[in-house]
Amino acid sequence: MPGRFTFLTSATRLEQCPADMRPEIAVLGRSNSGKSTLINAWAGSQIAKTSSTPGKTRLINFFDGPHYRLVDFPGYGYSARSGDEQASWGGMIETFLSTRGSLKGALLLMDCRRDWTNEEAMLLKFLERRGSPMAVVLTKSDKLNRSEEDKMRAKFKNIPGVAAIFFTSSTKRKGLEELEDYVFRTWVLEEVVT
Ligand code: GDP
Repeated sequence: MPGRFTFLTSATRLEQCPADMRPEIAVLGRSNSGKSTLINAWAGSQIAKTSSTPGKTRLINFFDGPHYRLVDFPGYGYSARSGDEQASWGGMIETFLSTRGSLKGALLLMDCRRDWTNEEAMLLKFLERRGSPMAVVLTKSDKLNRSEEDKMRAKFKNIPGVAAIFFTSSTKRKGLEELEDYVFRTWVLEEVVT
Protein backbone atom coordinates (compact mmCIF):
# COMPACT_ATOMS: atom_id res chain seq x y z
CA MET A 1 0.00 0.00 0.00
CA PRO A 2 2.83 2.46 -0.70
CA GLY A 3 2.48 5.94 -2.05
CA ARG A 4 -0.27 8.50 -2.09
CA PHE A 5 0.14 9.81 1.43
CA THR A 6 -0.22 13.53 1.89
CA PHE A 7 0.47 15.81 4.81
CA LEU A 8 -2.75 16.62 6.66
CA THR A 9 -1.75 18.70 9.66
CA SER A 10 0.60 19.09 12.63
CA ALA A 11 -0.28 19.36 16.29
CA THR A 12 1.75 20.37 19.30
CA ARG A 13 -1.05 19.57 21.72
CA LEU A 14 -3.73 16.92 21.84
CA GLU A 15 -6.50 19.47 21.38
CA GLN A 16 -5.04 20.31 17.98
CA CYS A 17 -5.29 16.76 16.66
CA PRO A 18 -7.72 16.27 13.77
CA ALA A 19 -11.08 14.58 14.29
CA ASP A 20 -10.64 11.05 15.56
CA MET A 21 -12.38 9.31 12.64
CA ARG A 22 -10.02 7.47 10.26
CA PRO A 23 -7.96 4.35 11.07
CA GLU A 24 -4.63 5.55 12.44
CA ILE A 25 -1.22 3.95 12.76
CA ALA A 26 1.16 5.60 15.21
CA VAL A 27 4.81 5.75 14.20
CA LEU A 28 7.17 6.12 17.14
CA GLY A 29 10.92 6.14 17.43
CA ARG A 30 13.86 7.82 19.05
CA SER A 31 15.46 10.74 17.28
CA ASN A 32 17.73 9.36 14.61
CA SER A 33 15.92 6.02 14.44
CA GLY A 34 15.29 6.59 10.74
CA LYS A 35 11.63 7.45 11.25
CA SER A 36 11.38 10.31 8.76
CA THR A 37 13.33 8.41 6.14
CA LEU A 38 11.02 5.43 6.51
CA ILE A 39 7.87 7.53 6.36
CA ASN A 40 9.16 9.24 3.22
CA ALA A 41 9.95 5.87 1.64
CA TRP A 42 6.52 4.60 2.69
CA ALA A 43 4.76 7.64 1.29
CA GLY A 44 6.80 7.79 -1.87
CA SER A 45 7.57 11.47 -1.35
CA GLN A 46 9.41 13.71 1.06
CA ILE A 47 6.49 14.39 3.37
CA ALA A 48 8.31 13.86 6.68
CA LYS A 49 11.08 16.20 7.66
CA THR A 50 14.38 14.66 8.65
CA SER A 51 16.35 15.07 11.86
CA SER A 52 18.38 17.97 10.60
CA THR A 53 15.28 20.16 10.20
CA PRO A 54 15.08 22.53 13.17
CA GLY A 55 11.86 22.68 15.11
CA LYS A 56 10.44 19.42 13.87
CA THR A 57 10.92 17.66 17.17
CA ARG A 58 7.79 18.68 19.02
CA LEU A 59 5.17 18.14 16.38
CA ILE A 60 2.77 15.28 15.90
CA ASN A 61 2.31 15.04 12.13
CA PHE A 62 -0.69 13.46 10.46
CA PHE A 63 -0.40 11.98 6.97
CA ASP A 64 -3.49 10.79 5.13
CA GLY A 65 -3.39 7.79 2.82
CA PRO A 66 -6.24 6.23 0.90
CA HIS A 67 -7.14 3.77 3.65
CA TYR A 68 -5.58 5.02 6.83
CA ARG A 69 -3.60 7.76 8.46
CA LEU A 70 0.01 7.68 9.67
CA VAL A 71 0.63 9.59 12.87
CA ASP A 72 4.26 10.58 13.21
CA PHE A 73 5.30 11.30 16.79
CA PRO A 74 8.25 13.41 17.84
CA GLY A 75 11.33 11.35 18.58
CA TYR A 76 11.54 10.14 22.11
CA GLY A 77 14.78 9.61 24.02
CA TYR A 78 14.29 11.56 27.14
CA SER A 79 17.91 12.28 27.91
CA ALA A 80 18.03 15.03 25.30
CA ARG A 81 15.17 16.94 26.89
CA SER A 82 14.70 19.03 29.97
CA GLY A 83 12.61 17.69 32.84
CA ASP A 84 9.53 19.70 31.93
CA GLU A 85 9.73 18.75 28.30
CA GLN A 86 10.03 15.10 29.22
CA ALA A 87 6.99 15.28 31.40
CA SER A 88 4.79 17.07 28.88
CA TRP A 89 5.90 14.91 25.97
CA GLY A 90 5.44 11.75 28.00
CA GLY A 91 2.00 12.88 29.11
CA MET A 92 0.89 13.77 25.62
CA ILE A 93 1.97 10.53 24.06
CA GLU A 94 0.59 8.45 26.89
CA THR A 95 -2.78 10.17 26.58
CA PHE A 96 -2.85 9.80 22.82
CA LEU A 97 -1.92 6.13 22.89
CA SER A 98 -4.36 5.44 25.70
CA THR A 99 -7.37 7.34 24.44
CA ARG A 100 -7.31 7.82 20.67
CA GLY A 101 -10.32 5.88 19.37
CA SER A 102 -9.07 5.47 15.79
CA LEU A 103 -5.68 4.06 16.74
CA LYS A 104 -5.32 0.60 15.21
CA GLY A 105 -1.74 -0.11 16.13
CA ALA A 106 1.69 1.38 16.62
CA LEU A 107 5.01 0.88 14.92
CA LEU A 108 8.00 1.32 17.17
CA LEU A 109 11.01 2.10 15.03
CA MET A 110 14.42 1.28 16.40
CA ASP A 111 17.85 1.45 14.86
CA CYS A 112 18.65 -2.25 14.45
CA ARG A 113 21.87 -1.84 16.41
CA ARG A 114 20.12 -0.60 19.55
CA ASP A 115 18.75 -2.56 22.45
CA TRP A 116 15.29 -2.61 23.95
CA THR A 117 15.18 -0.37 27.03
CA ASN A 118 12.69 0.69 29.69
CA GLU A 119 11.49 3.51 27.47
CA GLU A 120 10.38 1.08 24.78
CA ALA A 121 8.83 -1.14 27.45
CA MET A 122 6.84 1.84 28.72
CA LEU A 123 5.38 2.61 25.31
CA LEU A 124 4.43 -1.03 24.91
CA LYS A 125 2.70 -0.93 28.27
CA PHE A 126 0.50 2.06 27.31
CA LEU A 127 -0.62 0.22 24.20
CA GLU A 128 -1.17 -3.08 25.96
CA ARG A 129 -3.39 -1.40 28.50
CA ARG A 130 -5.80 -0.34 25.80
CA GLY A 131 -5.42 -3.53 23.80
CA SER A 132 -3.66 -2.01 20.77
CA PRO A 133 -0.93 -3.99 19.03
CA MET A 134 2.66 -2.82 18.64
CA ALA A 135 5.07 -4.02 16.00
CA VAL A 136 8.79 -3.36 16.27
CA VAL A 137 10.49 -2.13 13.12
CA LEU A 138 14.25 -2.53 13.19
CA THR A 139 15.53 0.10 10.77
CA LYS A 140 18.80 0.49 8.83
CA SER A 141 19.09 -3.28 8.44
CA ASP A 142 21.61 -2.68 5.67
CA LYS A 143 24.04 -2.10 8.55
CA LEU A 144 23.78 -5.74 9.70
CA ASN A 145 25.08 -8.91 8.15
CA ARG A 146 22.98 -12.05 8.11
CA SER A 147 24.19 -13.51 11.39
CA GLU A 148 23.87 -10.18 13.22
CA GLU A 149 20.31 -9.90 11.94
CA ASP A 150 19.51 -13.43 13.15
CA LYS A 151 20.90 -12.54 16.56
CA MET A 152 18.72 -9.44 16.82
CA ARG A 153 15.68 -11.35 15.62
CA ALA A 154 16.17 -13.94 18.35
CA LYS A 155 16.57 -11.22 20.97
CA PHE A 156 13.40 -9.36 20.01
CA LYS A 157 11.35 -12.54 19.71
CA ASN A 158 11.66 -12.94 23.45
CA ILE A 159 9.97 -9.67 24.30
CA PRO A 160 6.45 -10.47 25.41
CA GLY A 161 3.66 -8.37 23.93
CA VAL A 162 5.35 -7.42 20.66
CA ALA A 163 2.95 -8.35 17.83
CA ALA A 164 5.54 -8.63 15.06
CA ILE A 165 9.13 -7.76 14.18
CA PHE A 166 10.30 -6.32 10.88
CA PHE A 167 13.73 -5.54 9.54
CA THR A 168 13.73 -2.65 7.11
CA SER A 169 16.21 -0.61 5.15
CA SER A 170 14.81 2.56 3.69
CA THR A 171 17.93 3.21 1.68
CA LYS A 172 17.87 -0.28 0.12
CA ARG A 173 14.04 -0.38 0.10
CA LYS A 174 14.12 -3.67 1.97
CA GLY A 175 11.25 -4.97 4.08
CA LEU A 176 9.01 -1.98 3.41
CA GLU A 177 6.38 -3.75 1.34
CA GLU A 178 6.14 -6.55 3.86
CA LEU A 179 5.63 -4.00 6.62
CA GLU A 180 3.01 -2.02 4.70
CA ASP A 181 1.21 -5.21 3.78
CA TYR A 182 1.13 -6.34 7.40
CA VAL A 183 -0.20 -3.02 8.66
CA PHE A 184 -2.88 -2.86 6.02
CA ARG A 185 -4.06 -6.46 6.24
CA THR A 186 -3.73 -7.05 9.95
CA TRP A 187 -4.65 -3.71 11.46
CA VAL A 188 -6.64 -1.76 8.89
CA LEU A 189 -8.44 -4.24 6.64
CA GLU A 190 -9.64 -6.32 9.60
CA GLU A 191 -11.46 -3.28 10.77
CA VAL A 192 -13.05 -2.52 7.40
CA VAL A 193 -14.26 -6.09 6.93
CA THR A 194 -15.74 -6.66 10.38
P1 GDP B 1 14.58 10.39 12.54
O1 GDP B 1 15.22 11.36 13.46
O2 GDP B 1 14.12 9.17 13.27
O3 GDP B 1 13.49 10.97 11.70
O4 GDP B 1 15.73 9.84 11.58
P2 GDP B 1 16.09 10.19 10.07
O5 GDP B 1 15.09 9.58 9.13
O6 GDP B 1 16.36 11.63 9.92
O7 GDP B 1 17.44 9.32 9.88
C1 GDP B 1 18.54 9.47 10.76
C2 GDP B 1 19.82 9.09 10.03
O8 GDP B 1 19.79 7.70 9.66
C3 GDP B 1 20.01 9.86 8.73
O9 GDP B 1 21.38 10.15 8.60
C4 GDP B 1 19.57 8.88 7.66
O10 GDP B 1 20.22 9.09 6.42
C5 GDP B 1 19.97 7.54 8.27
N1 GDP B 1 19.11 6.45 7.79
C6 GDP B 1 17.76 6.41 7.80
N2 GDP B 1 17.30 5.25 7.27
C7 GDP B 1 18.38 4.52 6.92
C8 GDP B 1 18.57 3.21 6.34
O11 GDP B 1 17.65 2.46 6.01
N3 GDP B 1 19.87 2.80 6.19
C9 GDP B 1 20.93 3.57 6.52
N4 GDP B 1 22.15 3.07 6.35
N5 GDP B 1 20.79 4.81 7.08
C10 GDP B 1 19.55 5.28 7.27
